[in-house]
Amino acid sequence: MVVMEKKECLEELKKKVENCRNCSLGRSRKYVVFGEGNSESKIVFVGEAPGYYEDQVGKPFVGQAGKLLDTLLADIGLSRSSVYIANILKCRPLGNRDPLPEEINACKPYLMEQLKIIQPSLICTLGRFALISICNKSVSITAVHGKLIQAETYNIFPLYHPAAALHQPTLLKSIKRDFAELKEIISKPMPKIKPEPKTEIKIPEKTNVQEQMKLF
Ligand code: URA
Repeated sequence: MVVMEKKECLEELKKKVENCRNCSLGRSRKYVVFGEGNSESKIVFVGEAPGYYEDQVGKPFVGQAGKLLDTLLADIGLSRSSVYIANILKCRPLGNRDPLPEEINACKPYLMEQLKIIQPSLICTLGRFALISICNKSVSITAVHGKLIQAETYNIFPLYHPAAALHQPTLLKSIKRDFAELKEIISKPMPKIKPEPKTEIKIPEKTNVQEQMKLF
């Protein structure tokens, strides 16, 4: 049996995504921004969608927000090439508008496939869209940023989006604090994922007629 390396699996998947036309963004993109970094990394950063500069070169987080991300990573002793960076959407929504639900639905399976290949022990979501999409439910980023949470089958560390932090000094302070917390978290063993509590199904007791008859 041929066992493919994570890097090769990601390359295969990338080829598939490059031909994707599952939503209208496939027609307006210049490049698919698949994601990049260390396929063996235990940490994956997930942003929202490529912007203008990312679309021009096919790489995630290369614009102003990307420069801030690089600095925040460097501040805690990480480099872009030591982690893996991807987005929920692989193609740029024109005008950098918010992703539409149908675009998220069309594109998210590719991210889930990337995560299945990489098997990170921690996913750092960047911004509200990434957080909600990964958790698969409505979660307030204000309430959970900078805290380790578990959702689906992942340890998740929600962070504000660096683009938001560029425009709001209070968010910049928060994101810096959260990165410092991230440094602490990754210095310790990651908690095991707790299985989702199973709903107890009550099976009605069977009335064994023969057993009952013996009682008379
Ligand atoms: N913002 C994102 O969410 N992703 C990028 O790749 C760039 C900017």
